[in-house]
Amino acid sequence: MLKNGIKIAENVFDGKKSARSLGHNFSGEPTWQWQENHQKALAIFACQNEGCQETLTIDAEVNIMYDDATCRKEGSITYLAKVELNGKIYRAEFNEVIAKKPHEYPEPIWCWSKDLKSAIAIFECDNCGNQVEIEAKITQEAIEDGKMRYTVHVTFEGIDYENSIDARYNKKFNGTTAFIFATIAFTGIIMGAIIVFKIRSSIPYQK
Ligand SMILES: [Zn+2]
Ligand SMILES: [Zn+2]
Repeated sequence: MLKNGIKIAENVFDGKKSARSLGHNFSGEPTWQWQENHQKALAIFACQNEGCQETLTIDAEVNIMYDDATCRKEGSITYLAKVELNGKIYRAEFNEVIAKKPHEYPEPIWCWSKDLKSAIAIFECDNCGNQVEIEAKITQEAIEDGKMRYTVHVTFEGIDYENSIDARYNKKFNGTTAFIFATIAFTGIIMGAIIVFKIRSSIPYQK
């Protein structure tokens, strides 16, 4: 090597011998190699000395932390690798996301309208209480004398749910109301007839 025309003795680097005599320098950050689904890791330190290809591989201690997924949030697995070299700690981390769990809905609660003309199915998640309401389709069929079967039907998350109520046809509302109105109307006619008769009979007969 020439510097200002003066030949300077070069520090000849003859591979391992020189490297060993100089002493390696593994003070830099290692390269990490995760293995066996992140259950293990290797920290690979490269010698920082110029021209030296030497590496030092150390088995890391791996700690695994779990955060379970629920139907409200994703979970995670955190892999923490750690090695110590010359009194210094080196760490690496790898995170794995666990997908949210689906809600778990048992049979729904059915809410019928009083007139049995509409109904909703309320699904409530067993784990978090999340609610989903679905309007049901209603069908009705006469099943026996004076009785009607009302059937409601919903499909939720690919599953069919059904519920039915048997009721005497229009008994609660229309039957009673019709009877009351009929009674009032009949009474009214009778009363009217009596009044008309009384008025007529009270008018004196004139020739
Ligand atoms: Zn070296
Ligand atoms: Zn849930």
